[in-house]
Amino acid sequence: MTARKILFLVLDGISDRPCPELAGKTPLQAARKPNLDAFAREGVCGIMDTIAPGIRPGSDTAHLALLGYDPHQYYTGRGPLECEGSGITMEPGMIGFRCNYATLANDGRISDRRAGRIHDTSALSAAIQKGVDLKKSGVEFTFRSGAGHRAALALKGPGLGHCVSSNDPKNEGVPPLTITPSKQTENDRKTAAVCNEFVRQSAEILTRHHVNRERIQQGLNPANVVLMRGAGEMGTFEPFSQRYGISGSVISAASLISGIGSAVGLKRVHVDGVTGSQDSNIAGKIAAALEELRSQDFVLVNIKGADESGHDGLAKQKTTFIEKIDTAISPLRTLQDTILVICADHSTPCSVKDHSADPVPVVIWGEGVRTDDIARFDEISCAEGGLNRIPGSSLLPIALDLINRSRKYGA
Ligand code: ZN
Ligand code: ZN
Repeated sequence: MTARKILFLVLDGISDRPCPELAGKTPLQAARKPNLDAFAREGVCGIMDTIAPGIRPGSDTAHLALLGYDPHQYYTGRGPLECEGSGITMEPGMIGFRCNYATLANDGRISDRRAGRIHDTSALSAAIQKGVDLKKSGVEFTFRSGAGHRAALALKGPGLGHCVSSNDPKNEGVPPLTITPSKQTENDRKTAAVCNEFVRQSAEILTRHHVNRERIQQGLNPANVVLMRGAGEMGTFEPFSQRYGISGSVISAASLISGIGSAVGLKRVHVDGVTGSQDSNIAGKIAAALEELRSQDFVLVNIKGADESGHDGLAKQKTTFIEKIDTAISPLRTLQDTILVICADHSTPCSVKDHSADPVPVVIWGEGVRTDDIARFDEISCAEGGLNRIPGSSLLPIALDLINRSRKYGA
């Protein structure tokens, strides 16, 4: 029998380097993880350069590569993908930005870049959508709230460029910056002018809004200015189903990852209680993945928490979270008719507190997979495995071949 479905379980940033707090082990080596190890024992293991050796991937470029979309060709900045992730349907040529609500003090300086960690901004975003008018420049826009203080802005219209700076000074106690064209083209100048006008008009609306008046009365920081960054032009993505002839879904708390999924035409699946953090509902994501596999050929699940621990440099927390993942994935042990791929999108070493180019461990498990002698899922053990060292762009082709859906090259 040959499996018919593929499940990608991407454990974001789980891969690491030896940690002094763990007596020189990596968190994956230190964790008790019977399920992950069982998959390694029964499957074929290896290590993977998500993009290429020595290239330090972002989560966005890494996921594009894992889905078989060469980031060098398809990645045009984080903004348009964040827009997709917040539910805006991006058309090729639209310009997307990541935004966040911040607090502007009376003296014109930013006093809180997260606007008191405001969580529900939907009324504010609706007021901006209704009240800001960019018609004079012939531009339409869509502005949507994201999680917490985050939001996304998409611009649509003729003659817009995407090479513009941010108004986020990245510090508090200073005024927001003026957005400027980074290349002196007509299109970039137009986008910069439209952005500055958007920021000006939205700040007026926000200052008057009753949500902010009430926040001030309650002693909370108002969300009275929009900071924007990550400008990019939406590219043309060949739909996943067309490219591979299979249907697919994406399950992720991070809007960036669900945005990538929806940009390539994967179905986005919402799961309650997912946070992208240590307390996320991992079991709920696994249950949702199993449910999706009933109707879809391919499912990608991203689990984020370990990346956060890596960025915070917390090796013990990362180890504990790996154990939590291991418990949550136990229903996958009886998975049928499916090729399961478990990997990371990049390493996030606790000693670096950021992503590194170290290759990540990968295991492929399921019907028809050749096994090897590896019995542990970690960076060091997997390096000895039968897959050897593969690029991320090979992962989906290998999985498609295992379900007999690869195209023959030659006669
Ligand atoms: Zn990542
Ligand atoms: Zn990260």
